[in-house]
Amino acid sequence: MLIAIGSNRRHHRHGPPRGVVRAAVVALEGQGLAVIAVSRIHTTAPVGPGGRSFANAAVVVATSLSPRAVLNAIKAVERNFGRKPGQRWGDRVLDLDIIGAGSSVIAESGLVVPHPRMAERRFVLDPLVEIAPDWRHPLLHATVRQLRARAMRPMARNRVAKRAGP
Ligand code: AMP
Repeated sequence: MLIAIGSNRRHHRHGPPRGVVRAAVVALEGQGLAVIAVSRIHTTAPVGPGGRSFANAAVVVATSLSPRAVLNAIKAVERNFGRKPGQRWGDRVLDLDIIGAGSSVIAESGLVVPHPRMAERRFVLDPLVEIAPDWRHPLLHATVRQLRARAMRPMARNRVAKRAGP
């Protein structure tokens, strides 16, 4: 399973966003998710009206838990880091998203996998290509490497830039 990690706020104990991201990896392991690969931590210009740069990373976790159980686990980690429920854009101590789960396709209330916006987000694709370049998107039928190459093309950048909001 592929999980994206983002932070753009300090945490009183873990420090600046990069420290939050590092601590989040440890916290995921504390939830019983075996982290088998971790990307570098990237610094990304803010998306939306937040105004602060993000630290972003991605991990591969091995788990026998269902995607729904993993969603509950990552929400618990977000809560432990002080994320306010309902806060969507802007400042956030910690944001965790399930990006993909093998070849699973899930479209349930509150859980969509693969993550619907992953293919156009460089802040997801850049870390992900380091650890899962050959993972194949089960709906787009393209690998992470291919999706990232697409997202880097000027046309794709324009399309993403014109899209308002999430
Ligand atoms: P956001 O604040 O944008 O991270 O959205 C969080 C909400 O999106 C959560 O309450 C989840 O129920 C929902 N959600 C839907 N699909 C996913 C996913 N693949 N990973 C994480 N959250 C998801």
